[in-house]
This record gives sequence, structure tokens and C-alpha cells, in this order.
Amino acid sequence: MAEESVFAQRFRNREGPYHLYDSADHPVIRVETGAHVLGALLDGRTRLVFLDDPGCAEGSVLRMTYPTGEWSPEPVEPTACACGDVRCKGRLVITLHDSHAGPDWMLTFRG
Ligand SMILES: [Zn+2]
Repeated sequence: MAEESVFAQRFRNREGPYHLYDSADHPVIRVETGAHVLGALLDGRTRLVFLDDPGCAEGSVLRMTYPTGEWSPEPVEPTACACGDVRCKGRLVITLHDSHAGPDWMLTFRG
């Protein structure tokens, strides 16, 4: 459980969440839910986590962190997102490093 609270603490200090897109402007989708995937940046933007609820509900967060550079050329620069959801802090362009991001987390692009 100690590990859990460390993650929760890191997640509280996140930047984001940001809706994720590929470089051709396709939304990143979680196959299991059909939801538009968001990313949040941790630890001074060096780590990326995935979630699929703009409200950052705990259960929507994939509790694995990835080096941001694996998914996005650094430095990462979030830009304005047009989704209209006030909980969304912007959009981030990623390259699909691995479609299997974690248990029950398959990523794909819509369109
Ligand atoms: Zn958005």
C-alpha cells in the first residue's frame, strides 16, 4: 500500500490532464472503453501516465508511469484543446510507442 500512496502523491502534483492526439490529429482511443485517452505529466514532465476520464477519477488512471520521451519528443508542449471540457488542460501530441500500455489498456487511434 505504500507504493499506492507514493503514486497518489505524484499524481496530485500532475500537469494535465491533456487529451492525446497523434501527429495526424487522430484522437488516441482506449480500446476497452472507447474513451478518448488523456495523459498527465509527472515529475517535472519526465513521466507520462494515461487515464481516460477528464475528471481524473482514480479508477480511470493506469497506474504505470512511462518516460515521457518514449511517447513524445521532448520538450513536451501542450497546446489548447478544443474539446470544451473545462477539466481538460490542453492537448498533447504523442507517437504510439506501444499499443499495449498496460493491463486492459490497449491504445489505438480513431480515424
Ligand atoms: Zn480536451
